[in-house]
Amino acid sequence: MSARNTAAHRGRHARGAMPSYGSRTDVGLVRDHNEDSLVVSPPLFAVADGMGGHAAGEVASEVAVQVLSQHTPSVADGDDLARAVVAANRAVIRAAREGLGREGMGTTMTAAMLDGNKLVVAQVGDSRAYLLHRGALQRITRDHSLMADYIESGKITEEEAKTHPQRSVITRALGSDPNTLPDIYEMNVAPGDKLLLCSDGLSGMVDDPLLESTLARIDDPQRCADILVDQAISAGGVDNITAVVVNVEGGAAAAVAKEERRGKLGVIAIIVMLALILIGGAIGINAYLNTAAFLTEDNGEVVICRGVPAEVLGIKLWELDQRTGVDVDNLQLPPNTKSRLTEETIQTDSVEDAEELLQTWQNQVSSPTPDPKSSDKANDEKTEDSSSDSAAPTKSEGGEN
Ligand code: MN
Repeated sequence: MSARNTAAHRGRHARGAMPSYGSRTDVGLVRDHNEDSLVVSPPLFAVADGMGGHAAGEVASEVAVQVLSQHTPSVADGDDLARAVVAANRAVIRAAREGLGREGMGTTMTAAMLDGNKLVVAQVGDSRAYLLHRGALQRITRDHSLMADYIESGKITEEEAKTHPQRSVITRALGSDPNTLPDIYEMNVAPGDKLLLCSDGLSGMVDDPLLESTLARIDDPQRCADILVDQAISAGGVDNITAVVVNVEGGAAAAVAKEERRGKLGVIAIIVMLALILIGGAIGINAYLNTAAFLTEDNGEVVICRGVPAEVLGIKLWELDQRTGVDVDNLQLPPNTKSRLTEETIQTDSVEDAEELLQTWQNQVSSPTPDPKSSDKANDEKTEDSSSDSAAPTKSEGGEN
């Protein structure tokens, strides 16, 4: 319920330009107590909107922000911030079990870490993070709410959601499932950008265009937070209202441009790398399918096929390369190899390898006293890769192609 701004946290992670910030939380005009809690302890900022009634919501949001603060990562990192939220979730569940608050209490959590130009946001529930960039407001987070699902699926409009009887139903919260994970958003921000974290008591009462114009107009973050909360109260103040406003500070415009360029290059580099991996994978698979071969038997004759003896989505991954004219029964093959050849297939890396393997078998036939042991060994080595459990073509298919 109260702002956390402890001396222990302040300055501990300070690096470079400190952001300036302001915050306000208000019970509103309808509720009799405030279940929202917040953290303003740079580089950590958070808003938690508790629920559960009979003072339990206050406990849930309070426990969550305290534990989050205790687990503040040393740098702005998505995984680390997610871990802090997971710890907060488990603490809320534990608190309810131990009789603090009550069973069924829960809270949203929208937590942000701002480290230089890097912003990381972790979110569970319907409290929001917004970024004002070059005067335009962007919604960073996606609500975990029934209304967000309905709006996304086109069931209702944003306008209809405002009066929908189930408008306060959230689909993810801290305090119920120990395995709940937050959504994580990581992005670069620029000096002059403004971050707004708020509970639904603000975003449900004040629409995005007014949030945008207020953030753009009021440069002092504390004054801005005060005015935003006043606007929600003017609009009816039906819920608790919390606003945290953070101004991103920084150097000259040149530094901004450089950072933005670097950010874009980073994204492009990742896209290029992913594309290369995908193309590489496709080329690799294709190259293998183009060169791989296998031996099998059709009507007593050894045949060599290109590809692999399988089908994907009804497309055969093989075709007949040659009928060899070699009668299987004329080859003195070890029983193992013979059954593999006649009932399944023997895979090789190329048609040449297949021909060479067949040649080896034929040489064994013509050798006057074949040594069963050595021939066994030779065949086993060659056939080690044969896939006995793959979807092999049936004998007749192998022959018709
Ligand atoms: Mn609320």
